[in-house]
Amino acid sequence: MGPPGAGKGTQGALLASRFGVPRYSTGDILRASRRDGSELGREAQRYMDAGELVPDNVILGLIRKVLSSTEAASGYLLDGFPRTVAQARGLKDMLDEADQQLDAVVNLSVDDGEILRRLSSRRVCEDCGAIVRPETTTDSCARCGGRLVTRPDDRLDTVRRRLEVYRQETEPVLDWYRESYAGVLDISGAGSVEQVQERILTGLAS
Ligand code: AMP
Repeated sequence: MGPPGAGKGTQGALLASRFGVPRYSTGDILRASRRDGSELGREAQRYMDAGELVPDNVILGLIRKVLSSTEAASGYLLDGFPRTVAQARGLKDMLDEADQQLDAVVNLSVDDGEILRRLSSRRVCEDCGAIVRPETTTDSCARCGGRLVTRPDDRLDTVRRRLEVYRQETEPVLDWYRESYAGVLDISGAGSVEQVQERILTGLAS
């Protein structure tokens, strides 16, 4: 968990490959649905472009589908979900039904000034969604050759709205986890990708 630009996608991808589990990013799934022109993508588009959250029932339906896949049977990492208390409750119901538990909730925190700085220069691959490291100077994706672009919702006014939505809707989820679970692993998202990853791994180990 964490605000936009905290590094969820980058750190999530590293963690998932380290633990050998699939990573399910609701944002990535929604963007892929938009590229495919599917109904889900069309429904999500106007919310995403405005920096608003896609309705809980749509997101919970999507999560139910991915978590019931055989690939998810021996563990997974969720990125960008849950973002509302209703989603967190929905996830708990699904986990209870499947007799599964959350092993950890990792919260990356970064201050607003740094978020605005990071997102204003962030580029992603139009085709595979890979997040490009800031020092990259080329215009094509090293993974699939796709074009590197600025995400439409990384525009300044939309980022401001996404931050507001994060404070209103998603911060209460952290409180909910703090009260209802063993706790939340709070990690500073400042510094290099490697430093943050090291902090997360140390936190998880302890
Ligand atoms: P992200 O890539 O995680 O920053 O998500 C991009 C956008 O997708 C968000 O600003 C929302 O519009 C939508 N989205 C992603 N995950 C969720 C979620 N769990 N609940 C509602 N909307 C979401």
